[in-house]
Amino acid sequence: MKQKETLLSTMDIELSKERMEELGEEHVGTSLETPLREDAFEMDDDLKIELIEKHFREIMNIMGLDLSDDSLKGTPHRVAKMYVKEVFSGLNPKNKPAAKLFENKYKYKEMLVEKDITFHSHCEHHFVPIYGKAHVAYISNGDVIGLSKINRIVQYYSKRPQVQERLTMQIGNELKEALGTTDVAVIMDAYHMCVSSRGVQDTNSSTVTSFYSGKFEHDEQARNEFLKYINLEK
Ligand SMILES: [Zn+2]
Repeated sequence: MKQKETLLSTMDIELSKERMEELGEEHVGTSLETPLREDAFEMDDDLKIELIEKHFREIMNIMGLDLSDDSLKGTPHRVAKMYVKEVFSGLNPKNKPAAKLFENKYKYKEMLVEKDITFHSHCEHHFVPIYGKAHVAYISNGDVIGLSKINRIVQYYSKRPQVQERLTMQIGNELKEALGTTDVAVIMDAYHMCVSSRGVQDTNSSTVTSFYSGKFEHDEQARNEFLKYINLEK
């Protein structure tokens, strides 16, 4: 009896490992919020860099790389600094761009589109790059936001381990909040290095995700106008 129980529980673990693998390969995200622990920012950046450096050196060691080689010596520190200060800096709320609104003196109530915003992110299942273009639109309710601010919001959420669907929604929700309007649309068209350089090794496919809210969700004309601007109309 005891033996059977043990066997069963081992099987359960094996199954969930398989399931986990599958989940990662299919790039299924589990939540809208980036899964962060409560104590995520109790350590300061310097301590994080120091610890990541130590662990990354260990990863390189295990792979058999000679860290006394001049070319590799600085890699653990470079990677650690890049993680904390650059490519994953969007995890920390202190780096969130403040959105300043301007009064729309011309009473411009038409659609405003910013297209071809280049972004670089990382797949949270493989920690390799996702890169592509984001296209954003909103209909002003009387206030407008600086164009560079839209760019910064896109970059902020990109600088996290991500799944593309969540990234698209986080940008959309942030713009709704910052602009005080629900009339927001976001389309992201991206290449996933984990698809092109490994796994199925498909180098040409890109993934398109969209977020439509307010008029963009309910008014087909508004949506088509946006798609026309970014040359994605049907
Ligand atoms: Zn991946």
